[in-house]
Amino acid sequence: MQERGKKTPYIIGLTGGIGSGKSTISCMFEKLGAEVVDADKISHSIVSKNKPLYKEIVKHFGSDILDEKKELNRPALRNIIFNDSKEKAWLEALMHPAIKSTILEIIKKSQKPYIILSVPLLLESGNYDFVDRVLVIDVPESVQLERIGKRDNISRELAQSIIKSQMSRSERNKRADDIIVNDAPIEDISKLVKQLDGKYQQAT
Ligand code: ADP
Repeated sequence: MQERGKKTPYIIGLTGGIGSGKSTISCMFEKLGAEVVDADKISHSIVSKNKPLYKEIVKHFGSDILDEKKELNRPALRNIIFNDSKEKAWLEALMHPAIKSTILEIIKKSQKPYIILSVPLLLESGNYDFVDRVLVIDVPESVQLERIGKRDNISRELAQSIIKSQMSRSERNKRADDIIVNDAPIEDISKLVKQLDGKYQQAT
């Protein structure tokens, strides 16, 4: 709590594996009036063309890391760091503090009743101990693989290794205050979100 000062909104850390439904469910909370802060979106925006971090990354990896529009080639970068732990550590040391300070800035300015802070590696990173509550989006691995396959242009092998590199379902669920099992029709999930929204609105 130390970095947030005294009067801050209630913060729910939302997490789950790749393709579990974090964006889909965040969007439902947003429609109900929550401030959604998406660490993934922030991590994209702070490295967009010619931003200071973009320049650092190009300096480090060379212009081969750019696509034809001179934006970062994210799949290429993901491949590099997936196969090289030193490069991964370098990139994380650059990105994490910038992501965190951007998040804290948005939270500080928010006028909404509560914050949904969506972070894929919320529990793994150890950077987010300031959240008041943890909401885990849980799905069986088979559903995860099926949804990633439909959504992303990555191989099943890469999807599997990303899942393996993340915290296991049981470990994540153990750390949750609330869990949404996102293996049901959207309408049912929407009802669960509405219930949680009622609870979070009260918590502020
Ligand atoms: P994440 O943000 O965790 O990576 P997404 O919200 O992008 O996951 O969801 C992954 C994919 O699964 C998306 O294509 C999304 O539309 C789909 N999806 C999410 N929840 C459901 C659901 N309850 N039923 C069917 N498809 C879903």
